[in-house]
Amino acid sequence: MENYSINTNCVQAGYTPANGEPRQIPIIQSTTFKYDTSEDMGKLFDLEANGYFYTRLQNPTNDHVAAKIAALEGGSAAMLTSSGQAANFFALFNICECGSHIVASSSIYGGTFNLIAVTMKKMGIDVTFVEPTATEEELNAAFKDNTRAVFGETIANPALTVLDIEKFAKVAHEHGVPLIVDNTFPTPINCRPIEWGADIVTHSTTKYMDGHGAAVGGCIVDSGKFDWMAHADKFPGLCTPDDSYHGITYAEKFGKEGAFITKATAQLMRDFGSIQSPQNAFILNLGLESLHVRMPRHVENGQAVAEFLEAHPKVTKVNYSGLKSDKYYDLAQKYLPNGGCGVVSFELAGGRDAAQKFMKNLKLAAIETHVADARTCCLNPATSTHRQMSDEQLKAAGIPAGLVRMSCGLEDKKDLIADLAQALDQI
Ligand SMILES: *Cc1c(COP(=O)(O)O)cnc(C)c1O
Repeated sequence: MENYSINTNCVQAGYTPANGEPRQIPIIQSTTFKYDTSEDMGKLFDLEANGYFYTRLQNPTNDHVAAKIAALEGGSAAMLTSSGQAANFFALFNICECGSHIVASSSIYGGTFNLIAVTMKKMGIDVTFVEPTATEEELNAAFKDNTRAVFGETIANPALTVLDIEKFAKVAHEHGVPLIVDNTFPTPINCRPIEWGADIVTHSTTKYMDGHGAAVGGCIVDSGKFDWMAHADKFPGLCTPDDSYHGITYAEKFGKEGAFITKATAQLMRDFGSIQSPQNAFILNLGLESLHVRMPRHVENGQAVAEFLEAHPKVTKVNYSGLKSDKYYDLAQKYLPNGGCGVVSFELAGGRDAAQKFMKNLKLAAIETHVADARTCCLNPATSTHRQMSDEQLKAAGIPAGLVRMSCGLEDKKDLIADLAQALDQI
């Protein structure tokens, strides 16, 4: 692909039809692919030739869309997964095994927290959580001999903290391990973590990339920059022969640019089979075609709503890194100069009861657990996702009972603010 701007890549990267071929990416709705000779097929199984044999591992529709996301993030290779959860699991499990250790920011999506702290722990993979604001010294102290990866989110869901990517990357590299960054909330339109030193980028494409609340999906992008062979003792899965794949050594055969995604496809996708359906990949691509047009509007609405709420007497606190008063404003200026995303969270003075009354009276914003789609939605964690916790427990977890998370969609900001104003009046 030529060196086009990210806006052009949103529309056109990943698929260039030849003469007379479909203009839109075809949905290859086929489990299997036909070959003339068993020698032809054998080459695919030996990873000697490129091609498709079974959609549990790879499908052409998915690969076009993955190539677009790789172009947007500035990576060397990418793969789609069935969900964001699968993307983060594969990204970590591709280089971790029983006996490994992960350093992760404590400010991450609840599903990822459970994945790492509970489910991967059962697989014998240990974790040390660090504050997203940890100093280099504190980060260094979290490492062990068996640490294999560092993990964080550019803008955390739902805490809206901003990760100091450069700092986390520097410390990870000093310890000879890659930094994996979940870039779901800003999308590559507002931040490209690879430019700041991240080695692997993951996405829940379910959110802004799809953008219409239509298809669950995930993506892993490799920067192609991490030198696995230079740390071969830490990454035997990439740097020693894979007996389950005819003794291929991924880092040797596919180099820095190809090893990570090839192994995740040939080994993890083969064995776990969490591939995105080609139908969902097609829907995701429709979203990607307008991502560069939609993200600035999500940011404009988020900023306007955050400023309105900050000035309102019934609101005690607003979290949005585009506000000067926000703890993460300076980091956001550095990593998110065009804004972060459309998600704002705020605390109502009247606590849980006020939040419930406020949300019941909203007319445009729907009550949903979802975020990051075209329609504005909101959630009060205390009465939904975190309802098993007492007010004291909520406070300790940094989720006060009166906290509302609002995902600003693509409606007109005047209508959103008018809706908020009338609902606040009724508290
Ligand atoms: C939603 C989300 C996930 C999980 O993605 P799913 O597509 O729901 O599996 C992971 N990380 C972040 C930051 C998310 O917002």
